[in-house]
Amino acid sequence: MPENNIEPKFEVLHMPPENTNSVLVSVGGDAVIFDAWGNAIDWEKLLETRGLRLRAIYSTHGHGDHISAAPTLAEKYDVPWYMNSEDNVLIGWSNGLLKYFGLPLIEGNYRQPTDIEAGVIEVLPGIDVEIIETPGHTPGGVAYYFPDFGILLTGDTLFRDGIGRYDLPGGDVNALLQSVAKLYEMNFPEETFVVHGHGIDSVIADLKRDNKYFSC
Ligand SMILES: [Zn+2]
Repeated sequence: MPENNIEPKFEVLHMPPENTNSVLVSVGGDAVIFDAWGNAIDWEKLLETRGLRLRAIYSTHGHGDHISAAPTLAEKYDVPWYMNSEDNVLIGWSNGLLKYFGLPLIEGNYRQPTDIEAGVIEVLPGIDVEIIETPGHTPGGVAYYFPDFGILLTGDTLFRDGIGRYDLPGGDVNALLQSVAKLYEMNFPEETFVVHGHGIDSVIADLKRDNKYFSC
Protein backbone atom coordinates (compact mmCIF):
# COMPACT_ATOMS: atom_id res chain seq x y z
CA MET A 1 0.00 0.00 0.00
CA PRO A 2 1.44 3.38 -0.90
CA GLU A 3 1.63 5.70 2.06
CA ASN A 4 -0.90 8.47 1.65
CA ASN A 5 0.53 11.92 1.54
CA ILE A 6 -0.29 13.82 4.70
CA GLU A 7 0.68 17.13 3.10
CA PRO A 8 -2.39 18.84 1.63
CA LYS A 9 -2.24 18.93 -2.16
CA PHE A 10 -4.02 21.33 -4.50
CA GLU A 11 -4.16 20.41 -8.17
CA VAL A 12 -5.71 22.32 -11.05
CA LEU A 13 -7.11 19.71 -13.42
CA HIS A 14 -8.37 20.03 -16.98
CA MET A 15 -10.66 17.08 -17.37
CA PRO A 16 -11.73 16.12 -20.89
CA PRO A 17 -13.24 17.71 -22.88
CA GLU A 18 -10.96 20.51 -21.75
CA ASN A 19 -12.87 23.65 -20.90
CA THR A 20 -13.06 24.40 -17.20
CA ASN A 21 -10.50 24.57 -14.39
CA SER A 22 -11.36 21.99 -11.74
CA VAL A 23 -9.46 21.80 -8.48
CA LEU A 24 -8.75 18.58 -6.62
CA VAL A 25 -7.77 19.02 -2.99
CA SER A 26 -6.46 15.99 -1.15
CA VAL A 27 -4.85 15.05 2.12
CA GLY A 28 -4.24 11.70 3.78
CA GLY A 29 -6.17 9.75 1.13
CA ASP A 30 -9.27 11.95 1.29
CA ALA A 31 -10.25 14.35 -1.46
CA VAL A 32 -12.75 17.03 -2.40
CA ILE A 33 -13.41 18.46 -5.83
CA PHE A 34 -14.16 22.08 -6.66
CA ASP A 35 -16.08 22.43 -9.94
CA ALA A 36 -16.40 18.85 -11.11
CA TRP A 37 -16.34 19.44 -14.85
CA GLY A 38 -16.26 16.61 -17.39
CA ASN A 39 -17.59 13.09 -17.25
CA ALA A 40 -18.02 11.44 -13.84
CA ILE A 41 -16.41 8.27 -15.24
CA ASP A 42 -13.12 10.10 -15.76
CA TRP A 43 -13.18 11.38 -12.18
CA GLU A 44 -13.93 7.87 -10.89
CA LYS A 45 -10.91 6.51 -12.78
CA LEU A 46 -8.70 9.28 -11.45
CA LEU A 47 -9.80 8.78 -7.84
CA GLU A 48 -9.35 5.03 -8.16
CA THR A 49 -5.89 5.30 -9.69
CA ARG A 50 -4.82 7.68 -6.97
CA GLY A 51 -6.44 5.69 -4.17
CA LEU A 52 -8.44 8.73 -3.03
CA ARG A 53 -11.75 8.69 -1.16
CA LEU A 54 -14.07 11.43 -2.35
CA ARG A 55 -15.61 13.32 0.59
CA ALA A 56 -17.52 16.15 -1.05
CA ILE A 57 -17.97 18.25 -4.17
CA TYR A 58 -18.19 22.04 -4.20
CA SER A 59 -19.35 24.24 -7.04
CA THR A 60 -18.56 27.90 -7.62
CA HIS A 61 -21.87 28.23 -9.48
CA GLY A 62 -24.57 26.29 -11.23
CA HIS A 63 -23.54 26.45 -14.89
CA GLY A 64 -23.23 23.09 -16.64
CA ASP A 65 -19.51 23.49 -17.25
CA HIS A 66 -18.92 23.66 -13.48
CA ILE A 67 -21.28 20.92 -12.31
CA SER A 68 -21.46 18.30 -15.09
CA ALA A 69 -19.99 15.43 -13.05
CA ALA A 70 -21.25 16.56 -9.62
CA PRO A 71 -24.64 14.83 -9.33
CA THR A 72 -23.31 11.47 -10.53
CA LEU A 73 -20.23 11.58 -8.29
CA ALA A 74 -22.32 12.64 -5.28
CA GLU A 75 -24.64 9.70 -5.90
CA LYS A 76 -21.90 7.16 -6.61
CA TYR A 77 -19.82 8.00 -3.51
CA ASP A 78 -22.79 9.10 -1.38
CA VAL A 79 -21.16 12.42 -0.55
CA PRO A 80 -22.64 15.92 -0.41
CA TRP A 81 -22.53 18.27 -3.36
CA TYR A 82 -22.43 21.85 -2.11
CA MET A 83 -23.65 24.85 -4.03
CA ASN A 84 -25.45 28.07 -3.16
CA SER A 85 -29.14 27.25 -3.61
CA GLU A 86 -29.75 30.48 -5.55
CA ASP A 87 -28.22 28.60 -8.48
CA ASN A 88 -30.37 25.47 -8.25
CA VAL A 89 -32.67 26.86 -10.90
CA LEU A 90 -29.76 26.85 -13.38
CA ILE A 91 -29.09 23.11 -13.15
CA GLY A 92 -31.90 22.20 -15.50
CA TRP A 93 -30.51 24.57 -18.12
CA SER A 94 -27.16 22.79 -18.25
CA ASN A 95 -28.09 20.12 -20.69
CA GLY A 96 -27.75 22.13 -23.89
CA LEU A 97 -24.12 22.75 -23.02
CA LEU A 98 -23.52 19.16 -21.91
CA LYS A 99 -25.00 17.92 -25.18
CA TYR A 100 -22.69 20.23 -27.09
CA PHE A 101 -19.68 18.74 -25.29
CA GLY A 102 -20.97 15.17 -25.68
CA LEU A 103 -21.32 14.66 -21.92
CA PRO A 104 -24.04 12.73 -20.09
CA LEU A 105 -27.04 14.93 -19.35
CA ILE A 106 -28.23 15.85 -15.86
CA GLU A 107 -31.78 14.56 -15.79
CA GLY A 108 -34.27 12.38 -13.97
CA ASN A 109 -33.85 11.97 -10.23
CA TYR A 110 -30.38 13.42 -10.00
CA ARG A 111 -28.70 14.09 -6.65
CA GLN A 112 -29.58 17.59 -5.42
CA PRO A 113 -27.00 20.00 -4.09
CA THR A 114 -26.80 21.05 -0.44
CA ASP A 115 -26.94 24.80 0.16
CA ILE A 116 -23.86 26.75 1.24
CA GLU A 117 -23.62 30.32 2.46
CA ALA A 118 -20.86 32.75 3.36
CA GLY A 119 -18.64 31.48 6.16
CA VAL A 120 -15.64 29.33 6.95
CA ILE A 121 -15.79 25.54 6.80
CA GLU A 122 -13.24 22.76 7.14
CA VAL A 123 -13.40 20.78 3.88
CA LEU A 124 -10.81 18.18 4.92
CA PRO A 125 -8.85 17.78 8.16
CA GLY A 126 -6.75 20.92 8.56
CA ILE A 127 -8.04 22.56 5.38
CA ASP A 128 -10.32 25.53 5.99
CA VAL A 129 -12.02 27.41 3.21
CA GLU A 130 -13.80 30.73 3.34
CA ILE A 131 -16.91 30.88 1.19
CA ILE A 132 -17.42 34.35 -0.28
CA GLU A 133 -20.72 35.15 -1.94
CA THR A 134 -20.06 36.69 -5.35
CA PRO A 135 -23.34 36.98 -7.26
CA GLY A 136 -23.57 38.58 -10.69
CA HIS A 137 -22.37 35.97 -13.18
CA THR A 138 -25.10 33.85 -11.57
CA PRO A 139 -27.32 34.66 -8.57
CA GLY A 140 -25.63 32.08 -6.33
CA GLY A 141 -22.01 32.36 -7.39
CA VAL A 142 -19.36 31.96 -4.71
CA ALA A 143 -15.58 32.20 -4.48
CA TYR A 144 -13.50 29.92 -2.26
CA TYR A 145 -10.47 31.19 -0.36
CA PHE A 146 -7.98 28.97 1.46
CA PRO A 147 -6.27 31.43 3.82
CA ASP A 148 -3.69 28.96 5.14
CA PHE A 149 -2.59 28.04 1.62
CA GLY A 150 -2.94 31.39 -0.17
CA ILE A 151 -5.27 30.05 -2.84
CA LEU A 152 -8.41 31.70 -4.23
CA LEU A 153 -10.93 30.10 -6.60
CA THR A 154 -13.00 32.77 -8.35
CA GLY A 155 -15.22 30.66 -10.59
CA ASP A 156 -16.47 32.77 -13.50
CA THR A 157 -16.73 36.01 -11.52
CA LEU A 158 -13.21 37.11 -12.38
CA PHE A 159 -10.73 36.02 -15.03
CA ARG A 160 -7.07 36.79 -15.62
CA ASP A 161 -7.97 39.60 -18.02
CA GLY A 162 -11.59 40.40 -17.36
CA ILE A 163 -14.83 39.47 -15.67
CA GLY A 164 -17.48 36.84 -16.29
CA ARG A 165 -20.50 37.13 -18.53
CA TYR A 166 -23.57 38.81 -17.11
CA ASP A 167 -25.85 38.36 -20.12
CA LEU A 168 -26.84 34.78 -19.29
CA PRO A 169 -30.08 34.00 -17.42
CA GLY A 170 -29.82 35.28 -13.84
CA GLY A 171 -26.81 37.44 -14.68
CA ASP A 172 -26.61 40.97 -13.25
CA VAL A 173 -23.86 43.37 -14.26
CA ASN A 174 -24.20 45.59 -11.19
CA ALA A 175 -24.05 42.62 -8.83
CA LEU A 176 -21.05 41.27 -10.73
CA LEU A 177 -19.12 44.54 -10.50
CA GLN A 178 -19.95 44.72 -6.79
CA SER A 179 -18.68 41.17 -6.30
CA VAL A 180 -15.42 41.99 -8.10
CA ALA A 181 -15.07 45.10 -5.91
CA LYS A 182 -15.73 42.96 -2.84
CA LEU A 183 -12.93 40.58 -3.82
CA TYR A 184 -10.61 43.54 -4.41
CA GLU A 185 -11.48 45.03 -1.03
CA MET A 186 -10.73 41.77 0.74
CA ASN A 187 -7.12 42.71 0.21
CA PHE A 188 -5.74 39.24 -0.37
CA PRO A 189 -1.95 39.01 -0.15
CA GLU A 190 -0.31 39.93 -3.48
CA GLU A 191 1.12 36.43 -3.95
CA THR A 192 -2.26 34.69 -3.50
CA PHE A 193 -2.58 32.08 -6.25
CA VAL A 194 -5.81 32.61 -8.17
CA VAL A 195 -7.55 29.84 -10.09
CA HIS A 196 -10.21 31.21 -12.42
CA GLY A 197 -13.15 29.24 -13.76
CA HIS A 198 -11.51 29.16 -17.18
CA GLY A 199 -8.18 30.11 -18.69
CA ILE A 200 -4.81 30.66 -17.15
CA ASP A 201 -4.14 31.10 -13.45
CA SER A 202 -2.82 34.30 -11.93
CA VAL A 203 -1.75 35.86 -8.67
CA ILE A 204 -3.42 38.86 -7.05
CA ALA A 205 -0.52 41.11 -8.10
CA ASP A 206 -1.14 40.19 -11.79
CA LEU A 207 -4.80 41.08 -11.47
CA LYS A 208 -4.07 44.42 -9.81
CA ARG A 209 -1.64 45.26 -12.61
CA ASP A 210 -3.48 43.92 -15.65
CA ASN A 211 -7.17 43.52 -14.95
CA LYS A 212 -8.93 46.86 -15.28
CA TYR A 213 -11.93 45.60 -13.32
CA PHE A 214 -9.80 44.58 -10.35
CA SER A 215 -9.16 48.01 -8.92
CA CYS A 216 -10.67 50.44 -6.46
ZN1 LIG B 1 -20.38 30.16 -15.67
